[in-house]
Amino acid sequence: MNVLVINAGSSSLKYQLLDTKTRQVFAKGNCERIGIDGSFIGHQENDGEKQKLEVALPDHKTAIQHVFKILDEAGFDTSKIEGIGHRVVQGGWYFPESKVVTDETLGWAREVAPLAPLHNYAEADVIQICRELFPSIGNVIVADTSFHYNMPEKAWRYALPRDVVDKLHIRKYGAHGTSHRFIWKTTNEFLDGDVHKLVSCHLGSGASLAAIQDGRVMDTTMGLTPLDGLIMGTRCGSVDPATVFYLQRVGGYTVDEVDTMMNKQSGLAALSAVSSDSRDIEEGAERGDENCKLALEMFYYRTSQLVAEMAQSMHGFDTMVFTAGIGENSDIMRLGVAKELEWLGVKIDEEANKVRSGEPRVISAPDSRVKVLVVPTNEELMIAMDVEELLGK
Ligand code: AMP
Repeated sequence: MNVLVINAGSSSLKYQLLDTKTRQVFAKGNCERIGIDGSFIGHQENDGEKQKLEVALPDHKTAIQHVFKILDEAGFDTSKIEGIGHRVVQGGWYFPESKVVTDETLGWAREVAPLAPLHNYAEADVIQICRELFPSIGNVIVADTSFHYNMPEKAWRYALPRDVVDKLHIRKYGAHGTSHRFIWKTTNEFLDGDVHKLVSCHLGSGASLAAIQDGRVMDTTMGLTPLDGLIMGTRCGSVDPATVFYLQRVGGYTVDEVDTMMNKQSGLAALSAVSSDSRDIEEGAERGDENCKLALEMFYYRTSQLVAEMAQSMHGFDTMVFTAGIGENSDIMRLGVAKELEWLGVKIDEEANKVRSGEPRVISAPDSRVKVLVVPTNEELMIAMDVEELLGK
C-alpha cells in the first residue's frame, strides 16, 4: 500500500512516501520555516541526493500542496496514494490505539491538545487540510502516546490530589510510543519470539526508555510531557519539581522562561557548554574538555539508573535494545551505558559494538545474562503499517 506519512509541527512538516509491502521509500523530506521568512523544502528521492527548494510557505496548506506537486513532478502519480498517516504527539485518553480520522476522532485530537499545545493544534489543522484537499484519501491518526496507554495504574498515576489529576487529565502518558512499539515488534521477530522482558532505549535528541513485557508497556521514563526522565540533548529530564517554583520565586523567571530553559537550554547542551549533539561532546571529551567528560558520565549514570528502574518494573529483563540517533550510531555511548549495568548482568562484546550497520544486530557477549541489541527504529514504517491495517482492503 502506498502511504504518505506526515509529521507536522507548528512551523515544520516532515513527509515520507513509502510502500508498506516492499518497504521502499519513494521520497521523503521536510518543509521548514512555515509561516516564517526563509521557508524551504528539503526533499530526497529514493535515498538520492537531498535537494533544497526555496519556496514561499505561508501556511501548512501551501506546504502540503507543494509536497504533492513535488511528488508528481518526480514522476510519482499522487493519485496512487492510498492513505495518509499522521503522527500526533499527544493522544490523551482517546487513542489507546491508532484510529481512522472522522469528525469525531479529529475532535478528540483537538480536545486533548491543551496537553501538547505546541504540536496537537498544528497536527489537527494539517489533518483537516488533507481531508479537504484530497477527500478520496483516508487519514489515520497514530498517537505517540498510544503504546504506553495501557501500562499498569501504579505506573501511570501520580501521587497528586485525585480531584485535580482527574479534572485536568494529569498522568504519565509517555512518548516515543510508535518507536518503542516498532522496536518491540522488530526485536521479537528478529529473536524468533525469544524476548519477554525488554528495555527499549530510544536515545536521540529526545530520549526515553520503555519497559515492555510480552508486548505490554509496564512503565516508561517520559511523563505528562516529554520533558521527564533521561538527560536529553536540550531537555533536563527529571529534576526536583520544586526547582520550578524556586526558579520563579527566587530566580525571578517567568513560567515561559522556565519552560524554555528546561526544554531548550538544558540537558547535554547545558552540561557540556559545547553542543546538544553527542558527536561534538564525544569529540570534546576526547580532547580532554572536563564539561564534556562530565556530560557523558552523567548521561551514562542517569540512563543506566533508569534502565534499572525499567527492569524493576518487570522484576528483571532479558533483552535491552539501543535505538535512535545516539543508540544506533554511538558505540561510545552504548558502551558507557552498558558498563554501568555490568552488575545487572549486561556484558557487551566490544568488537560487535563497533560494527556499523543499518540492520538489527546483537552486540552482547555470548555469556551476557541480558541480550543487548542495536535495532534501527522506523517510526514512519510503523505509522504506515497502521494505515494499512486500518484502511487496507
Ligand atoms: P535523533 O533525534 O534520533 O535523530 O538523534 C539525533 C542525535 O543522534 C544527534 O543529536 C546526535 O547526538 C546523535 N547522533 C547521530 N549520529 C550520530 C553518530 N554517528 N555518533 C554519535 N551520535 C550521533
